[in-house]
Amino acid sequence: MTKFNIDISRIPTPCYLVDEGLLERNMKILQGVSDRTGCKILLAQKAFSMFSMYPMMSNYLAGTTASSLYEARLGKEEFGGETHIFAPAYKDSEMDEILKLCDHIVFNSCSQWRRFQDKVEKVRGFGKKLECGIRINPEYAEIETDIYNPCVTGSRLGIVLSDFEKEGDLQGIDGLHFHTMCEQNSDTLERTLHVVEDKFGKYFSQMKWINFGGGHHITRADYDIARLERCIAYIQNTYQVQVYLEPGEAAALHTGYLVTEVLELGRNGCNLAILDTSAACHMPDVLEMPYRPEIIGAGKPKEKPYTYRLGGPTCLAGDVIGDYSFDQPLKVGDKLVFTDMSIYTMVKNNTFNGIKLPAILTHTKQGETKMIREFGYEDFKNRLS
Ligand SMILES: *Cc1c(COP(=O)(O)O)cnc(C)c1O
Repeated sequence: MTKFNIDISRIPTPCYLVDEGLLERNMKILQGVSDRTGCKILLAQKAFSMFSMYPMMSNYLAGTTASSLYEARLGKEEFGGETHIFAPAYKDSEMDEILKLCDHIVFNSCSQWRRFQDKVEKVRGFGKKLECGIRINPEYAEIETDIYNPCVTGSRLGIVLSDFEKEGDLQGIDGLHFHTMCEQNSDTLERTLHVVEDKFGKYFSQMKWINFGGGHHITRADYDIARLERCIAYIQNTYQVQVYLEPGEAAALHTGYLVTEVLELGRNGCNLAILDTSAACHMPDVLEMPYRPEIIGAGKPKEKPYTYRLGGPTCLAGDVIGDYSFDQPLKVGDKLVFTDMSIYTMVKNNTFNGIKLPAILTHTKQGETKMIREFGYEDFKNRLS
């Protein structure tokens, strides 16, 4: 079970509490991979954009990758290093700014590349070192859930080999990018690489870099780092290319908590507890993925004497986080601590029902709990008109 000895008696709820020391530990694991292999590792900001941590994180990683203009700008302004971007399609009106901000632009199709090629060449003509890549789709992924599988039939992500061979004009292209994994170990990467190499390997030597995307669960306890490093070394040595990884989850895995308070208790066929945090607003992956987050000190239903169904304060009937059991009966005012709440939470928050956004706090390496940001009515109102 996760060790937790942070004093939460005086912190406001709901709040995200990110442990700087745990985050730095992840950074050191990632840096170890890049040090030993010479690969470059980027933070995929879509999973974790807590930019108050970027100065620390930027000591360990080569830069950031973005899914949009705004993420690219955040990475450039707050993280530094290399700024990469991939999007299924770019807007003409945003391209000038993207060209200014980014070092690597990955295009999702040959027609996207052709649409913006003149602009790219112009910027290169002014002496900017701008590298462009194409996202390929190897039509191989070991992902059961379709909404997380970029290789489902009819996927709009990446170009499949048959189209690549028809349309691919690699003049001006520096790299290939694939992203086909989700929370997976390096054995999946190894099998994926066999397919990618089989299909697209003939183009590798013409490239400066190959980007292996994200979904590598590198900082998980059972992750086989040695195998990852063999995969990286094999591709780099065989084809004389630079390998990039862009993990999101792995960067901030198991580094943060969502602290909440019990607002109300009731019974409607089962014991109910209503919290001041919402699955729909503050941890939407609980409903989307779906999954059941862990709570410090709680067990599975019936494992401990007192079982409750925990739900949020919204009007959504399905705003249920899950069923949990406790050693003692819950009381109004009790604080509960959800674990692994740094990733895909803050970045996905919304204010449905006018629910308050959780504050953002850190637990510093010095052992202090520090308020980074609190949200209020204006944050809710400012997104509406
Ligand atoms: C989502 C995504 C990532 C990060 O994925 P994680 O599963 O968070 O590691 C990296 N690259 C691309 C293109 C992505 O879409």
